[in-house]
Amino acid sequence: FELERIGVHESVETVFPPSELAAYLDDLPAEVTVVGDDAAEITACDAVVTFEHRDAYLEVDWVHSIQAGVDRFPFDEFEASGVVLTNSTGIHDRWVGETVAGYLLSFARRIHTAVANQQDRRWDQPDWNDGFTLPGTTACVLGTGTLGSGVAEVLGALGVRVTGVRRSAEPVPGFDEVYATEDLLEGVSDADFVIVTLPLTEQTRHLVDAEVFEAMREDAYFVNVGRGPVVDESALIDALESDSIAGAALDVFETEPLPEESPLWDMDEVIVTPHCAAFTEDYFRAVGDIVRENVERLESGEPFHNRVV
Ligand code: NAD
Repeated sequence: FELERIGVHESVETVFPPSELAAYLDDLPAEVTVVGDDAAEITACDAVVTFEHRDAYLEVDWVHSIQAGVDRFPFDEFEASGVVLTNSTGIHDRWVGETVAGYLLSFARRIHTAVANQQDRRWDQPDWNDGFTLPGTTACVLGTGTLGSGVAEVLGALGVRVTGVRRSAEPVPGFDEVYATEDLLEGVSDADFVIVTLPLTEQTRHLVDAEVFEAMREDAYFVNVGRGPVVDESALIDALESDSIAGAALDVFETEPLPEESPLWDMDEVIVTPHCAAFTEDYFRAVGDIVRENVERLESGEPFHNRVV
């Protein structure tokens, strides 16, 4: 197809200003404009860069998701309408890795407790044996793709032994040991930290259930930076309430925004972040570079990078 006009949909505003990306791409051989929800405005584009899905996208040629996770896009309808879907996997490794390191350091060095106490102007030192250090601990990372590898790299540098769980037990650089998904319970059983970096698929929905929390050590912390529905959230809440795990750091939830009535908000050993583990001022540039590469590939007749449909 011919690429004359690329729309940057205003929904990218969740992560960065649409105008920043449009300006970053203004040297492309196509016109790049910010578009809203008006269907005529969308269908006047050949391609759209977006955060959310809109039905009008079925009438353009190419849709690029600024996220890695594309579970909210209707793959079958894209396929039936001949619309190409590409995603932004490959860019979040270091960003999410550092956020996860921040969670682990908070738990180990008791920073979340100090910040909570600060809200009440309370000077309250931790017990002598509350704090610990990361070297010598083990993190079991579910998913060994971009996010998993970024987490492994940053935690490895902090002295954490990192194991991975993936569909096959083939070794992956950066991981000290790898388990196949069917050995998940064995993989999580000796870990100080269990960290989910998986995409949401039919196979991963509720992969982390009561059995997994049961298999975890009582002093282990759970982290989810993948997708909320990969975890059975009520089983997680039960595990936290019954002290069968030590705590959790959660960036993604079964319902987002996390409902005000969720008990997760009030738990001392739970860190809640609002789906922002990958937020960085560089985000729009990294997305822009993927779009630019695909425009070049389209021109030279090469296959799209990060094509999903
Ligand atoms: P990726 O494609 O690089 O890695 C995903 C990995 O999961 C792959 O290695 C794949 O083989 C593995 N996997 C898939 N199904 C599996 C299964 N059943 N068992 C074991 N392994 C399985 O993608 P990525 O860039 O690492 O992103 C992963 C997911 O993380 C995204 O789909 C998105 O949902 C989420 N994400 C969240 C944030 C955030 O802000 N919290 C940011 C980026 C990505």
